[in-house]
Amino acid sequence: MSFQVFGIPVSRGVAIGRAVLVASGRVDVAHYFIEVGGVEAEVDRLLHARDVVAHELETLQRELPEDAPQELWALLDVHLMLLRDETLTGATKHWIIERHYNAEWALSAQLEVLARQFDEMEDEYLRERKADLEQVVERVLRALSRDPAAATSSHVAADVTARDFGGEDPLLLVAADIAPADMMQFKRSVFHGFITDIGGKTSHTAIVARSMDIPAVVGAREASRLIRQDDWVIIDGDVGAVIVNPSPIVLEEYRFRQRQSELERARLARLRHTPAVTLDSERVELLANIELPADAPAALMAGATGVGLFRSEFLFMNRDGELPGEDEQFEAYRAAVEAMKGMPVTIRTVDVGADKPLDRMSTSELRHEHVLNPALGLRAIRWCLAEPSMFRQQLRAIYRASAYGKVRLLVPMVAHLSELRMIHEALTRVRQQLTDSGHAFSHVEIGVMIEVPAAAMMLPLMLKHVDFISIGTNDLIQYTLAIDRADEAVAHLYDAWHPAVLQLIAQSISQAHAAGKGVSVCGEMAGDVAFTDLLLAMGLRSFSMHPSQIPAVKQRLLRADASRLASQLPEVLASEDPQQTAQALFSSARSPTAASLYKH
Ligand code: PEP
Ligand code: MG
Repeated sequence: MSFQVFGIPVSRGVAIGRAVLVASGRVDVAHYFIEVGGVEAEVDRLLHARDVVAHELETLQRELPEDAPQELWALLDVHLMLLRDETLTGATKHWIIERHYNAEWALSAQLEVLARQFDEMEDEYLRERKADLEQVVERVLRALSRDPAAATSSHVAADVTARDFGGEDPLLLVAADIAPADMMQFKRSVFHGFITDIGGKTSHTAIVARSMDIPAVVGAREASRLIRQDDWVIIDGDVGAVIVNPSPIVLEEYRFRQRQSELERARLARLRHTPAVTLDSERVELLANIELPADAPAALMAGATGVGLFRSEFLFMNRDGELPGEDEQFEAYRAAVEAMKGMPVTIRTVDVGADKPLDRMSTSELRHEHVLNPALGLRAIRWCLAEPSMFRQQLRAIYRASAYGKVRLLVPMVAHLSELRMIHEALTRVRQQLTDSGHAFSHVEIGVMIEVPAAAMMLPLMLKHVDFISIGTNDLIQYTLAIDRADEAVAHLYDAWHPAVLQLIAQSISQAHAAGKGVSVCGEMAGDVAFTDLLLAMGLRSFSMHPSQIPAVKQRLLRADASRLASQLPEVLASEDPQQTAQALFSSARSPTAASLYKH
């Protein structure tokens, strides 16, 4: 039966494929494809783990004390029976052999199928056996994680796609929630689209999905309950619709749209070498937001003239508690700097906490179990200043990379002048340490992110201590409007057009200019063409965004008259409905024809 689910669109385009359901709490299970030659060994891994667990359960049963309740003995019997049942291992083998899933992925996929069958059972006793099945699978997953073969094979994973081993259908990931750390794991992986039940437009999971440039819908509430393993699904990332088991006519319509958007993309890609200059000759800097050095080539391909935001915290994720040391960080920063071939690279110091925990906690786990108010807690610079030796280690690594190209350092979530003082003290000490140890480094410009309204409101004071600022609109909106950016329940109130937000952004840009300091915007607004005219009108000349968004933003600014836009800004800022006013006024400051743009 065909049906639709609606959520929040976070990454544009259309994806069509089969659903891969990943149960919440099991997203941290490794997901990768096994190469053709490794399938047999992977099946052996699974069977070995099953035998290990069977042995554990038999031993437990044998060693039960005489007076242990009879139910316990019977329970272990049920677990053994479930473990040996062909519907578990036999079908799991099928996922490995037919789909080339790794054993953990195959097992959790099969658990998902069986769990639903249990949910639908009439008999209450049988329905409750689902919990037993989950416990058995948990044991097998644990046995698999103790298997040293897992670590080596997972490296095969990332670059292999379904098509590499003959798989036909694109795969779309469906989950209740995905932690940003897990999204990173999927970054160069197999999925052509994402659907999650929870999350907001600028949650970090959404941001990573956008950086992967694949269609995604978050906050789709019941999606992971309604969609079944292997269902055919269409993700309409433009409007946030998910169509499950579409009719042939609908499927054909979306295949047509998919082809259209590929053509549009190819057309925009031709703007790569076109200088980013407005109609009235204002030069605009288009920079890239990256998460890993491996993203740098995409930035260059898109025509970025530097990196405006390297979210370094992603280097710190998925490390099982072992954070990268100075040398490892230095290598990563140097790799990014060298890949950008002399263009500036802005490295943001680690911004963990809130919805970016270092381990694989999902947003819902964080919210419900661990920290009451993560977004207001020990995150970003607060965390760094609470871990001074780790902070200095990162600063040393960043400075050392400056010997290889133009590096700028950016500190997130600063709200107090005392924090700036401590940052400068740490920097002075780090420079001295590097000089003493004979490490080379160059001049590094120091900037802060304007993400907390307090920082925006006292900007003239802050500006005295920094070389530049970068406005993090994602957090600035969250903190100005008191809306958790990751919470789909209040997503409708997360409003970039809110007059208070616009005032803070406009004021920050003009105060930075007045102080002769650099200013850019690196939040999601910078890459959204709906805001290009507005930000140009505010005087912004440096935008930082996902590489995939650069061509569309460039097209927009090539058609804009910046001085006319600026003259209309006061009316927009004074309006009760700035979005509508901007739409009405700004269209006149745009060139109606753009045919000439494609001559390049
Ligand atoms: C922001 O807050 O706008 C920003 C760019 O930082 P992040 O999205 O990583 O919090
Ligand atoms: Mg931020």
